[in-house]
Amino acid sequence: MASLPYLPFARPALDEETIAGVAEVLRSGWITTGPQVKNFEAALSHYLDGRPVRVLSSATAALEVALQLCGIGPGAEVITPSQTFFAAPNMIAKVGATPVFADVDLVSRNLDFDAVERAITPHTRAIMPTHFAGLPVDMDRLYAIARQHRLRVIEDAALAIGSSWRGRRIGSFGDLTVFSFHPNKNMTAIEGGALVLNDEIEAREVEILRFHGITRLSDGTRDVTFPGGKFNLPDVNARIGIGQLARLNVFNAQRRELVAEYFRQFPSGTPCLLPHPGYPGDEAGHSWNLFAPLLPLDRLTIGRQQFRAALEARGIGTGISYEAAHLTTLFRRYGHHEGELPNTERIARETVTLPLFPAMTHADVKRVCNAVGEVLAGHCSLPGERGEDLR
Ligand SMILES: *Cc1c(COP(=O)(O)O)cnc(C)c1O
Repeated sequence: MASLPYLPFARPALDEETIAGVAEVLRSGWITTGPQVKNFEAALSHYLDGRPVRVLSSATAALEVALQLCGIGPGAEVITPSQTFFAAPNMIAKVGATPVFADVDLVSRNLDFDAVERAITPHTRAIMPTHFAGLPVDMDRLYAIARQHRLRVIEDAALAIGSSWRGRRIGSFGDLTVFSFHPNKNMTAIEGGALVLNDEIEAREVEILRFHGITRLSDGTRDVTFPGGKFNLPDVNARIGIGQLARLNVFNAQRRELVAEYFRQFPSGTPCLLPHPGYPGDEAGHSWNLFAPLLPLDRLTIGRQQFRAALEARGIGTGISYEAAHLTTLFRRYGHHEGELPNTERIARETVTLPLFPAMTHADVKRVCNAVGEVLAGHCSLPGERGEDLR
């Protein structure tokens, strides 16, 4: 067992062509934002049926710029899940608006749109949904609500590049969409993000917002129209993104294949709550960034930390996606507390992310499943009964 290599929960896959391409950029004399960024934006736009795309230094930056583009600031409310990465609620707060947290479905872990509708007030300006783990939210319902209440939509699709809804790629339709190229995502640029826009006017505005709020005047000097950040992506990163995008469909097919193996191999009879398998008939629409079951903590004699330590001791890395944003110190200051969002809080307590990345093998999946089965069976609170189920 100790001789098996360590299995992290995520690992990027960079090929030699990309590495050679990066060396070329490094030798070219132009390493920050330049021709590779233009090429990367054009390739992303092509992948998304021709919609305008601008890349930024991270998805977090893209979320902030998207909010600024929509003119969202003090007095505005933005509805978002709390069961998401901290970036979305943080950026809503950073621009001076108020995040309004809606609960999620226990299985899909995506926004519960009945809860979203109940959360709408006269101050609501936008909905910022997350496509959890790469499973799209119900896009028909999302945009029906947005149209009915005249709300902007900023999709946090950090985990969902290559996902689709009824055959249409996430980001190829809708309002604003944000992707991430962090190394744990389905494709990487080391760091980086993209913002998909409705038209060239918005794209031009994003170019200003991502770079100091600068506009160029006809006399060759510069003017500033907004206290913009500095969120441009260097060409070195863009070149990596180009190499990754070319392989994205293959990566995502490998992820789906590995997940199918997870569902086949997962210890039967375990009281874990398995992830949503994807919509019937549209399984290929799920890009599977994460495979994260919920642990049956009420039936275990160990806590999640001990469960993770037991896997770590077997050379298997795990993660947590996600804690509950409304229970962070920051959002407790907004008055949030336990008991507000039952599904969000239960997921935050019980979720554990297991290894999933394209270079994994079926044997790796089996190894993880065996380890999970062993640890669960060894620490069940009802040994006579559940313990046997778990083996
Ligand atoms: C990773 C992630 C982000 C942040 O992406 P960065 O590119 O690291 O800023 C935002 N939202 C979700 C759901 C994520 O998983």
